[in-house]
Amino acid sequence: ARKFFVGGNFKMNGTRKDLKAIVDNLNNAQLDPNVEVVIAPPALYLEFVKQNLTKPNIEVAAQNVFNKPNGAFTGEISVSQLQDLGIKWTLLGHSERRNELGESDEFVASKTKFALDNGISVIWCCGESKDTRQAGETIKFVENQLAALAKEINDWKNVVIAYEPIWAIGTGLVATKEQAQEVHASIRSWLKQNVSEKVAEETRILYGGSVNAKNCKDLAKEEDIDGFLVGGASLKPEFVDIINSKQ
Ligand code: 13P
Repeated sequence: ARKFFVGGNFKMNGTRKDLKAIVDNLNNAQLDPNVEVVIAPPALYLEFVKQNLTKPNIEVAAQNVFNKPNGAFTGEISVSQLQDLGIKWTLLGHSERRNELGESDEFVASKTKFALDNGISVIWCCGESKDTRQAGETIKFVENQLAALAKEINDWKNVVIAYEPIWAIGTGLVATKEQAQEVHASIRSWLKQNVSEKVAEETRILYGGSVNAKNCKDLAKEEDIDGFLVGGASLKPEFVDIINSKQ
């Protein structure tokens, strides 16, 4: 069985004071021991958050990492810097980076490969825009994103996939459980056909986009929803309810 996984993507939010309060809340909470929890603060605060966490089963993730070793890459952070801080995870390919910063499928795939090759696990994000969904091209779009990744990587052991429809992110417009399950099932069947049955069975597929304490329980019951990637609600005490949503 796939271990339920809940990620918190803090995005470009928080001061040390805010982050301390979020971490303290998690430190003091009763968390389901069968859930893997990974929180992704801004890079500037990775060390601060890691040092303040006392719950040993919560890991810290970067929100992005570059695809080359240390060198002349102004503004980027490297895998060896993550290793230096004991950070074992990164997000890659979030739609905000794909869209606001022009990251291509190929660039995201190359960063994913570089991170994996250097022992950093990756929460790889995909998902369609509202226009793509309305055109009925969601599955095709997500499969193209997957194909670009599959071209670069062979070992999927340390990959978690996050399906995050762009129209659901930060909008309060959560995907219905049927909408999410349909895409998750098609991602799994794509993996089965194009990678292997084992990878299809073992890879966690998270849903992200306006997940909150109210809607998470129903989504968590779906067969192919193995957890969540949470934005706004990960900054609030209700994040604990989302972590504990799997019954
Ligand atoms: P929200 O939960 O704020 O919609 O954000 C989802 C997201 O983008 C997580 O990566």
